[in-house]
Amino acid sequence: MLKVEELKVSYGRVSAIKGISLEVQENEVVFLIGPNGAGKSTLLKTISGLQRPEAGSIAFENAAISGQAPEEICRRGLVLVPEGRHIFGTLSVAENLSLGTTIRDDRQQIRADLDEVLTLFPILRERYSSTAVYLSGGEQQQLAIARAILQKPRLMMIDEPSLGLAPLVIDQVYDALRKLNAKGMTLLVIEQSTARVADLASRVYVMRNGRIVLHETKASLGDGTALTEAYFGDAGHAAEQRVH
Ligand code: ATP
Repeated sequence: MLKVEELKVSYGRVSAIKGISLEVQENEVVFLIGPNGAGKSTLLKTISGLQRPEAGSIAFENAAISGQAPEEICRRGLVLVPEGRHIFGTLSVAENLSLGTTIRDDRQQIRADLDEVLTLFPILRERYSSTAVYLSGGEQQQLAIARAILQKPRLMMIDEPSLGLAPLVIDQVYDALRKLNAKGMTLLVIEQSTARVADLASRVYVMRNGRIVLHETKASLGDGTALTEAYFGDAGHAAEQRVH
């Protein structure tokens, strides 16, 4: 569904992505994990058209999308929930949600989809008329995901959904992601830790310093212990050797 090949991205003289290849197949949940500065956000921004690649290719549903405008990529069904959520604090929950539907003209269906996201995130129904700035971090994350869902993604990319949230709230967000995937949505999720990965992932890529250093599939992932060791422990270096 999504195929990235030999991608390189730089900010001036800073090389953030140094030749990355990865793929996401339909209905998978693919995790991209790695420490600060690994290049994870840059990768998602580049796939979304917000950053220009220096080399390599990006194909979505067999169409080359690299170099296309972000609106065009979004219209194709590739939607990003950015890090920091980008909620409009002075607008209400309802108004923030309606921003997710601006590229759509199917009014009846929008109403049905809105009802569906408010059922998925009941707190947003409760706070529907509240000003978004008064929402908690977890509520804002749910709002950001809900708004993205209303854009009708075929593939939703989420940059650190658990960032700054309490464990119980992370559970709620992940519960929603699991339900979305069960309904057929494909997900590409960035996280800094391996904590939530094992039970939901179809595939995991570990990124470090602009490169993929480890790639595990559901079959090789097991309960995630090996992944955690590879990520944090000495085994990480052995794993890097295996990949190269
Ligand atoms: P984090 O989890 O901290 O967001 P990350 O894995 O998402 O980290 P990126 O934000 O993609 O990493 O950053 C990758 C590299 O690119 C880092 O060295 C970072 O300093 C650099 N970088 C990111 N954004 C910019 C920018 N706008 N201008 C210059 N350098 C940047």
